[in-house]
Amino acid sequence: MAGERILDGKVALITGASSGIGAAAARVFAREGAALLLVARREDRLDALTRELREKGAEVEYAVADVTRRVDTAAAVARAVRHFGRLDCAFNNAGWGAGRTPLHEMDDDLYDRIMDVNVRGVWNCLRDEIPAMLATGGGAVVNNSSVGGLLATPVAAPYVAAKHAVIGLTKAAAAEYAAQGVRVNAVAPGTTRTEVVSEWFAAVPGMEEQLHAGTPQPRTAEPEEIAEAAAWLCSSRASFITGVTMPVDGGFTMV
Ligand code: NDP
Repeated sequence: MAGERILDGKVALITGASSGIGAAAARVFAREGAALLLVARREDRLDALTRELREKGAEVEYAVADVTRRVDTAAAVARAVRHFGRLDCAFNNAGWGAGRTPLHEMDDDLYDRIMDVNVRGVWNCLRDEIPAMLATGGGAVVNNSSVGGLLATPVAAPYVAAKHAVIGLTKAAAAEYAAQGVRVNAVAPGTTRTEVVSEWFAAVPGMEEQLHAGTPQPRTAEPEEIAEAAAWLCSSRASFITGVTMPVDGGFTMV
């Protein structure tokens, strides 16, 4: 129906909302009517985005949290429930790291850090989001994986492993809570024009063109395109979809 907002009346938590895909998701979810709890570590950015969205009439709070720390993610979920009275949707988007280092040269510390942010971060969030959703009869979670969660790219082994694990967690949680009304899905973005990716393209001449050459829609995604998919998966429009990973990649994983 024209003008209908797909997240009207919903309360959503978005991690990694201080930049990139998460910040784009905050704008899309707010436009679609959701009340928001924004989560990340950089308070200045969360504060600026919160002000921007409130000026547009959205209900927005933020929580400074490191997703690798369960105490932080638990406090963020509790904040959403305390302030808004419920939690209906979560976009577990916070993530970090890709690669450029051959597997045998990579530091163990880097491996640990990539696993911690991308896998434990999603794990920590799920552990408190799901009971909060069960308390009001259900909800919808979208985890941010990557095309690197569906296939392997060179010199990014821990990131590829971590993003495959995000898909495993998505399917496991979907199977476990489907009958209780909690849907759990993932998005798998292709290369998306966020600050980190723009810096990468600037540092490695020819990289952007090389990626375009391997993509049926030969371009880089905009953050909003990933955010739209996450918002739709969170909405009741996707009411019979659970356990899937939706590529948002211009066909990159199709070939
Ligand atoms: P950004 O670096 O712009 O965003 C990452 C976000 O995660 C930031 O808001 C950052 O906030 C937050 N974050 C990182 N570590 C932590 C942490 N320990 N605790 C809490 N928040 C954290 O990158 P993108 O927007 O590009 O990436 C977003 C997601 O999309 C990631 O999961 C990434 O792997 C995935 N992705 C991105 C692709 C791309 O091409 N851009 C392609 C495929 C997947 P802060 O630093 O303030 O804590």
